[in-house]
Amino acid sequence: MATIANNLQLVRARINQACSRVGRAPDSVTLLAVSKTFPAETVREAFHAGQRKFGENYVQEAIDKIAALADLRDQIEWHMIGPLQSNKTRVVAEHFDWVHTVDRLKIAQRLSEQRPAHLPPLQVCIQVNTSGEASKSGAAPSEALELARAVMNLPRLKLRGVMALPAPTTDPALQKAELRKVRVAFDALRLAGIQLDTLSMGMSGDMEAAIEEGSSMLRVGTALFGNR
Ligand SMILES: *Cc1c(COP(=O)(O)O)cnc(C)c1O
Repeated sequence: MATIANNLQLVRARINQACSRVGRAPDSVTLLAVSKTFPAETVREAFHAGQRKFGENYVQEAIDKIAALADLRDQIEWHMIGPLQSNKTRVVAEHFDWVHTVDRLKIAQRLSEQRPAHLPPLQVCIQVNTSGEASKSGAAPSEALELARAVMNLPRLKLRGVMALPAPTTDPALQKAELRKVRVAFDALRLAGIQLDTLSMGMSGDMEAAIEEGSSMLRVGTALFGNR
């Protein structure tokens, strides 16, 4: 039977292999365990297997889980990776450590205003839409620099990087081409003088390609927890 501890080992081995292929240090890639739709006890099991960073997509589900795992609160880093509506920013600002899906100024301003004073600044990534699909959330690469500058000036946010969710494909060449566009958007911001240390891209199906294209944070669900 596949346990979460086994799956974690397998995923870490995949990360190590992909890193060694491209001459990267394995600790240059952070593993975010995407626990959406799985119960709090599954997160607890992963925690006991050594995992500390968890990503959630749905605000209410996440808040319930964070409450159920209150005893671990100061040892777990909670990342919001789902689309964020403005009427949900307050509860996100109050309960999460990171938000990967900042894609417009209004959301960023609300998160900054609503981040409680007793907590450290909220760590954020700007979500970019490099595939040009109108239905996808994310700032257009052409808008990312202006948004990044504005986010940098918000007192209760700490801009960390860029996140993207390329259209799923099993074709490795296509995966790499899509991921490279995200890398290009990330590099463009850095070249413009924005300090960033996080490139959040790569999931269960494209982890290796993402590492080859420079990802520093993989968001992995299925390969750790099974099918949803
Ligand atoms: C669900 C989800 C993931 C994880 O996807 P898997 O294919 O299960 O690894 C990563 N990122 C985002 C934004 C997601 O919504």
